[in-house]
Amino acid sequence: MILLDGKKAKISILEELKEELLKLDRKLGLTVIQIGDDPASNVYVRNKGKMANDLNYNFNHIKLDDDITEEDVLALINKLNNDDIVDGILVQMPIPKHLDSKKIQNAIISVKDVDGLTDINMGKLAHGVDSLVPCTAMGILDLLRFYNLDVEKKNVAIVGRSDLVGKPLASLLTNNNATVTLCHSKTENLKEHTKLADILVVAVGKPKLINDEYIKEGAVVVDVGINRTEEGLVGDVDFEKVKDKVSYITPVPGGVGQMTVAELGKNTYKAHVLRKKKL
Ligand code: NAP
Repeated sequence: MILLDGKKAKISILEELKEELLKLDRKLGLTVIQIGDDPASNVYVRNKGKMANDLNYNFNHIKLDDDITEEDVLALINKLNNDDIVDGILVQMPIPKHLDSKKIQNAIISVKDVDGLTDINMGKLAHGVDSLVPCTAMGILDLLRFYNLDVEKKNVAIVGRSDLVGKPLASLLTNNNATVTLCHSKTENLKEHTKLADILVVAVGKPKLINDEYIKEGAVVVDVGINRTEEGLVGDVDFEKVKDKVSYITPVPGGVGQMTVAELGKNTYKAHVLRKKKL
């Protein structure tokens, strides 16, 4: 069994990106809007800031009170959309319930939508048009590529159909000629689907949901889940139970999570390039 080391792949991706950034005539700007003080969000934003620092980006963390009105959030996004030195904008989720998250996400102009979650970018991805792709989905494909694992002609099962991970990943892998089965909580006989998979991706959010009974001998397993438990951070896959059956597997932590942050750095650069093309 070989570990799919997200840290290693991340370093390589960021080194390559730094070469491209040297050719630009200004620092890129990435703005993260956080609403409220969710502890997990604080950690995620801090990690994004570290990555941005490493890439010498102008990182702007705007932290708003959790009672802010939707009107004020939309006005802020509008201002950032029109600010030429801001290349990428993202709103850290979750946001307080009184705010319409879809509406707020869609207020970001699509060429600055570094999370790739606006309807425009999700639509482009589904249509196979070059666009800003959600970071975790792109990170999974890049991690597989780093280990020379080609997805073309492979049977891939994805467990979890969220807008954040499962759905964009299904489009991305389909665009790359994989045969994709997208499973979810209403899927009957989940095991029958997952056992056919050459590559199994699990993005559910339930600790150790997937054990050896769900896996084909020699499969590649990508565990996206991040669950805080008494034993610390664990994935959706029971690592100990499957490790002798798989050919490759991501650790949690140290797997997909590392890639997600790296892809945000890449998307900020891509957003800059896309916007320059449009001007
Ligand atoms: P989500 O929005 O809650 O979606 C979970 C998905 O799992 C849904 O599609 C749900 O089906 C499906 N599901 C739930 N129980 C199931 C079951 N027993 N069998 C099969 N499918 C089931 O979660 P998410 O945002 O995609 O995140 C999933 C996990 O990935 C979480 O642990 C999250 O922390 C982690 N995550 C990690 C990264 C990273 O960078 N590593 C990034 C994003 C998320 P329905 O659609 O039918 O409800």
